[in-house]
Amino acid sequence: MDKSKKNITMSIRYLKGVGPKKADLLNRLGIGTIEELLYYLPKRYEDRSNFTLIKDLKIGEYQTLKAKVLASGVHRTKRGITLFRLAVSDKTGILYCVWFNQPYLKKIFKPGQSIIIFGKVEKHDRLRIHHPEYEILKRELDSIHIGRIVPIYSLTQDVSQRYIRFLTYEAVSNYASLLKETLPTHIRARKQMADISFAIRNIHFPYSFRNLEKSYKRLVFEEFFLLQAALAIKKKGFKQSSSGIRHKLNTELKSNFLKLFSFELTKEQLKAIDEIERDMVSEKRMNRLLEGEVGSGKTVVAIYALMLTVSNGYQGAMMAPTEILARQHYVNLSEILMPLGINTRLLISGISQDKKIKILKEIEDGEVDIVCGTHALIQGNVSYKNLGLALIDEQHKFGVTQRAILKKKGLNPDVLIMTATPIPRTLALTVYGDLDISIIRQLPEGRKAITTYWVEDQRRTFVYKFIREEIKLGRQVYIVYPRISKKPNSDLKAAASMYNRLQADVFPDLKIALIHGRMKSEEKEKIMKKFKNGQLDILVSTVVIEVGIDVPNASLMVIENAERFGLAQLHQLRGRIGRGSYDSYCILLGNPKTEAAQRRLSKMTETQDGFKIAEEDLELRGPGEFFGTRQHGLPELRFGDILKDFEIMEDARKEAFSLVARDPNLSDSRNYLIKQNLKKRWGGIVHSPQSTVHS
Ligand code: ADP
Ligand code: MG
Repeated sequence: MDKSKKNITMSIRYLKGVGPKKADLLNRLGIGTIEELLYYLPKRYEDRSNFTLIKDLKIGEYQTLKAKVLASGVHRTKRGITLFRLAVSDKTGILYCVWFNQPYLKKIFKPGQSIIIFGKVEKHDRLRIHHPEYEILKRELDSIHIGRIVPIYSLTQDVSQRYIRFLTYEAVSNYASLLKETLPTHIRARKQMADISFAIRNIHFPYSFRNLEKSYKRLVFEEFFLLQAALAIKKKGFKQSSSGIRHKLNTELKSNFLKLFSFELTKEQLKAIDEIERDMVSEKRMNRLLEGEVGSGKTVVAIYALMLTVSNGYQGAMMAPTEILARQHYVNLSEILMPLGINTRLLISGISQDKKIKILKEIEDGEVDIVCGTHALIQGNVSYKNLGLALIDEQHKFGVTQRAILKKKGLNPDVLIMTATPIPRTLALTVYGDLDISIIRQLPEGRKAITTYWVEDQRRTFVYKFIREEIKLGRQVYIVYPRISKKPNSDLKAAASMYNRLQADVFPDLKIALIHGRMKSEEKEKIMKKFKNGQLDILVSTVVIEVGIDVPNASLMVIENAERFGLAQLHQLRGRIGRGSYDSYCILLGNPKTEAAQRRLSKMTETQDGFKIAEEDLELRGPGEFFGTRQHGLPELRFGDILKDFEIMEDARKEAFSLVARDPNLSDSRNYLIKQNLKKRWGGIVHSPQSTVHS
């Protein structure tokens, strides 16, 4: 092909060795063009300049070795599983590789072949690796596949490591130099970053681990930099797009507010109030996230913000994701605010038409000061006289778009978003990078600590004794199970059958009831009422009690098969106790088999701090799962890992924010590349600040 026509946006079909069939397979990996292949990064590397000898293998570690195939065989176990066994040797010893249910491997390995093996080495009676990754070497001295740091890619069926490595080698050799630089020179120079061709070349075929690290850093930095630049622009746009309301402070208001409560506000509540006050007073629009667990006292903080806007002659709106929560807010707020002469109303679709029409009119005339509701509050038929503050509860259930709707309605209120999901700062920066953040970490003083134990199943009788003692003291007990009914072949305990057993054999003299999600709601309500009134000693349940139950006399919770629950769920469950003036206990029963499950349980015994638990959860599960699949708008990252690369993220954030502060419209020609890339990656963000990066 004519060299001048070479172009990275061409189809991979232009590469040697890619026919229509292979092209289809590569498409499945998301590789259609040469550029996409260049950006298809290895999942890991093997240092094949340096293999471990079989005699030096360390038990329990992942290692790479090179050996020759000695023999192989297929066996069938008594339980009907086929075992494929491969014996290999490198003259210093023999190692066995074992695969379950893959008898076809027999056809792949031949005695005398040279192979490279990667996996976790175990020793039973012999040295063994289960389901290793392997690569059969064709020629001993093959400079792409051996004698160097070798890239290992994620594969799909019928695409081998060797094949894709061969292709990337071709692509890197012939096309990497054609990559257009994506980071401006002034940033690269200052940060001493590699150029893009170097980075891509070395991310695939690094000459050294140092070069690899340099290349990785550069790619991850760029990704984070663009993300943060988008957030910075959005944040700036939000603040500049319209001057917000300049609320005026009133010292009397503050002292009256503080007098409303019989308790002292916590330090963090006061700090949050200060931050909110500063935002509301300034001419910039407030766009703030208030994080704090259930019970940390966010509503109290919100009340001050509402009083401040009302005292300035504006209206306040409090939006909740469900009618139940909206009603709850309404009850709480009106109880405190109505006596102060602040007119508070509830607007949800569940109220009568007449009432609704009346309230809508009152909102329009400005007779209503504060209105609680669901997203009904921002529907077309609602028009506010002068909305000064919009409070949004539970951000993660409320699309970020709602903020944009408010704006479209010609409203320009200060916005405060509240969430009870403890989001570690790490993530909050990425996901809510365009918001200012206030955090309430501590619960108010005087809450009884909950002591948590992790007890192995064998010591169940001890737990039963503990239960009895609490009940003798007049307390009540929750026992929680992962399932309602037992599945065949499962050793998971189930609420229904355990309820029968507990009532018949263990606590025949106590009053026990069963509650679960498949019951009718009247039935559930009846049982909950009985428990709340103290007519029951023990409530056996599934996770239905996770939310919204408040029985201060319940002081003990036993969670069976605790290893089956996620951290967030355990934390939520445990939040049902410790609500009264009694010492409370949570017993986690379980014999976890995995290290992750063990870590979960011991973390629960160590701390009650929702943020610490969330951080651990994040570390164990990774950001994607932590947030549920894309549900929370976590931006999709191609290279970086929010946790592992957090330092790079912070650096990129600093750089991006200071660049945007200097050149808000990216009109400086030196920043042209950034503008181009932002457009490509995040769409119209640069020109429409109120559109959202992550919705
Ligand atoms: P959240 O909205 O974060 O769930 P709330 O504001 O509803 O929390 O507060 C939960 C409970 O704690 C309420 O009964 C509230 O009156 C009480 N509370 C709030 N702040 C304090 C405090 N500083 N000291 C004692 N109790 C408090
Ligand atoms: Mg609340």
